[in-house]
Amino acid sequence: MSDPFVVVGGDAAGMSAASKARRDDPDREIVVFEKGEWVSYGACGLPYYVKGEIQSLEALVSVTPEEFREERDIDLRTGHEVVAIDTDERTVTAESESGTVVQPYGHLLLATGAAAVVPPIDGIDREGVYTLGSMSDGKELRDYVARARDGEGFQQPDRGPACRYLEDCTGPVAVVGGGYIGIEMAEALAANDFEVNLFQRGDRVLKGFSDETSEYVAEHLRDEDVVLHLDAEVRALSGDDRVEAVVTADDRIEVEMVLLGTGVRPRTDLAEAAEIELGETGAIATDAYRETNVPDVYAAGDCAEATHVVTGEPAYVPLALTANRHGRAIGRTVTGTPTEGGDIAGTAAVKAFDSEAARTGILDPEEARAAGFDPVTETVTAKSRAGYYPADGTVIVTLTADRDSGRVLGASLVSEYGEGAVHRSHAIVAALEAKATVTDVENYDLAYAPPFNTTWDPVLVAAKVLA
Ligand code: FAD
Repeated sequence: MSDPFVVVGGDAAGMSAASKARRDDPDREIVVFEKGEWVSYGACGLPYYVKGEIQSLEALVSVTPEEFREERDIDLRTGHEVVAIDTDERTVTAESESGTVVQPYGHLLLATGAAAVVPPIDGIDREGVYTLGSMSDGKELRDYVARARDGEGFQQPDRGPACRYLEDCTGPVAVVGGGYIGIEMAEALAANDFEVNLFQRGDRVLKGFSDETSEYVAEHLRDEDVVLHLDAEVRALSGDDRVEAVVTADDRIEVEMVLLGTGVRPRTDLAEAAEIELGETGAIATDAYRETNVPDVYAAGDCAEATHVVTGEPAYVPLALTANRHGRAIGRTVTGTPTEGGDIAGTAAVKAFDSEAARTGILDPEEARAAGFDPVTETVTAKSRAGYYPADGTVIVTLTADRDSGRVLGASLVSEYGEGAVHRSHAIVAALEAKATVTDVENYDLAYAPPFNTTWDPVLVAAKVLA
């Protein structure tokens, strides 16, 4: 009987699984279908490619298709889109330029990722509206930036509309959405001298972080001349063929391009058509081994749910490490060593110009209460290095714990870039994984030396205040 391990999707989750399976079983037949041309790429680096800090798309690729084929002996078929799964016959059907193939599987992994959300706004189909979800999106955006910087504007023969807020700029552009992709792209575009108008539906950027973190980052964005439009839901994109303006309830701002950073949705169409169950988050439901309700069919990465370490409930937080980790665990499981991929804490980090921020765990009081906790939160602002050391940074730590048990539930940290907010969040992640209390954290034996922190690191100070 043919027993191949078949993977749908050739990026973080898919290639981690295929590579691990190959390492653990040199003889297993492993087939990967990827509908695009790129595999094993770091989409996380795309904003820095668009910015111009990373020179080529190839630099974002960690293992090339040739290396997978020749060195890892993986039957990687790029340009092949899987269009159907038959879980009774245990086959997948893939289409490519050269025709249709029906591939049997012994184990199957769905690693189809997520797609950028395109909100149903009037005029959203106009030219000049971009998303940043794939390598080809990145290429298009970088080409756009290069053309615009060379003075090849679109609205007028010479260049785009005049900037409203900045005197000398490449052109006014809009970023819709103040999440991490929106903010990273605001930086990338501002670095190329665009006037960046960032539109956020709610009253703050970085919704999943603490208020203090959001305010800090918002100030940094303003300092860098990003025009923040808060409480500004985009109603329409106006123009003829090309987008010419962003319309909100109160304003109409002329722009020459719009970048949508309005979130992602799991790609679940294939799974749904094959009656593979989705969970309450809308992503594919899996058990601790990332197996779906259909035996021998697994799902991992941005298309799948995971279990939150604090609540124990299914959660959908599409991030790269989860995809890699769960993919790798599946690679072990399907080659004979059942391996749990581990829970998630929703840990995320973002750089916004010269600030950095991280969050982990449960910060939203409603979410904490729904999970049976009585949350209490404190925020401390502490020096990031010894007082006498010639540098004067601060770190703001917002820590949330359960009032009765003292169990740490989550944290949000922000500092100047390089002052350690992101790395400090790792101590809190370890506390969440260990279900530690604030008293436990207060007693953590963290490293100390003047160039790195104060004797009582800001994380310890925050725990002390809550203990
Ligand atoms: P994907 O990377 O989406 O890969 C899925 C693959 O499946 C795609 O190549 C797709 O073409 C293929 N596919 C889909 N359907 C089919 C089909 N039917 N047949 C064949 N192939 C198919 N995460 C972080 O942790 N930190 C960051 O800083 C960060 N920054 C990011 C910045 C940007 C701009 C973007 C877009 C994402 C960022 N992420 C970040 C998220 C991270 O990239 C994802 O979590 C990760 O790529 C998920 O990997 P995946 O393998 O699940 O899915």
